[in-house]
Amino acid sequence: MSQMATEHQAINLSQGFPNFPVDERLTAILAKLATANVHQYTPMSGLPSLLDKIAVLTQQSYGRAVTPKEEILITAGATEGIFATIQALVKAQEEVIILDPSYDCYEAPILLSNAKPVRVALNIDFTPNWETINAAVNEKTRLIIINNPHNPTGKMWTASDFEQLEKLVHAFPNLLVLSDEVYEYITFEQPHISVHHRPKLWERSISISSFGKSFHITGWKIGYVIAPEDLMREIKKVHQFLVFSVSSIAQHALNEYIDLVDIKTLGQFYQQKRDFFQSLMKDTKLKLLPCEGTYFQVASYAAISEENDIDFTKRLVTEFGVATIPISIFYANGDDHQCIRFCFAKDEETLTRAAERLRQL
Ligand code: PMP
Ligand code: GLN
Repeated sequence: MSQMATEHQAINLSQGFPNFPVDERLTAILAKLATANVHQYTPMSGLPSLLDKIAVLTQQSYGRAVTPKEEILITAGATEGIFATIQALVKAQEEVIILDPSYDCYEAPILLSNAKPVRVALNIDFTPNWETINAAVNEKTRLIIINNPHNPTGKMWTASDFEQLEKLVHAFPNLLVLSDEVYEYITFEQPHISVHHRPKLWERSISISSFGKSFHITGWKIGYVIAPEDLMREIKKVHQFLVFSVSSIAQHALNEYIDLVDIKTLGQFYQQKRDFFQSLMKDTKLKLLPCEGTYFQVASYAAISEENDIDFTKRLVTEFGVATIPISIFYANGDDHQCIRFCFAKDEETLTRAAERLRQL
């Protein structure tokens, strides 16, 4: 879709990335580091002082103490963290639960392990359906992948969802939780619940974070994994031969920058953008679904067209000059709910121009 947006000179609200400038304090740190002695390999797990700072952040955000060297791994984006985790922990013939609609990077590493992805649909309002999830889990299930706050829908898990998950993990001793929390700091009215808040899940959960989302630097491809030491030992074995270690200058820059940022303000920053985008969209025929977190807004176009969502998004980009993502691509079976995803991590001018075009629909 980003390619189509370029070809048709459309406003790109499809792929998830901010279009506003990076914090000048971060670019100043980078410029300074360009001539410093930071250009060689860091230790395999990550720059020790950055690991320490991630441990402090985890303590401040979730009240959980993790040991930096043993339980944290800095990865080449969340994507590598997810890949290394699945490759390390899932064996051939085992099963992995994916909740649809789901982000696209979970299935490939499962298939590469000769394991079986088991796709379970979320409810129509994108809450977890505990009846179908419970029915899908069995002795062969090694992993359940959860993504909270959720891409593409912006939905967040509740305490009662976590209680259900805890029951499931208790009932199946082989079952682990891979918790993709890359939007953990982009939440609005309700606070984010992390697996790190839930002591009953600690020993059985691997969490995934992304500096790309938290610091508006998606192209840097840097994130981290937190896992109990015994699981982390296995994850590191994959990481060692996949990338060994992650960009040194990026780690040094983040090590300085993390001290300057109040990450808790990120939610307010994006809430303003969400509210602005939602107010602009009131004058269109699109119906917006609730957006609790992430920088994605889902909208139904059922009142406008009977087309399937792929045809609709193609027409939107070619005829109206706005690129979005069809929600059906996040379902293994291509379920079409006549809904599209907008990314509102954009400056006000871009969102305003997009809304002007969408009013023509
Ligand atoms: N998980 C989800 C849910 C995402 O939206 C993304 C970002 N596209 C990722 C993982 C990958 O993040 P990164 O760019 O840090 O690899
Ligand atoms: N996670 C981003 C999204 O959902 C995109 C990353 C990618 O294009 N692979 O839009």
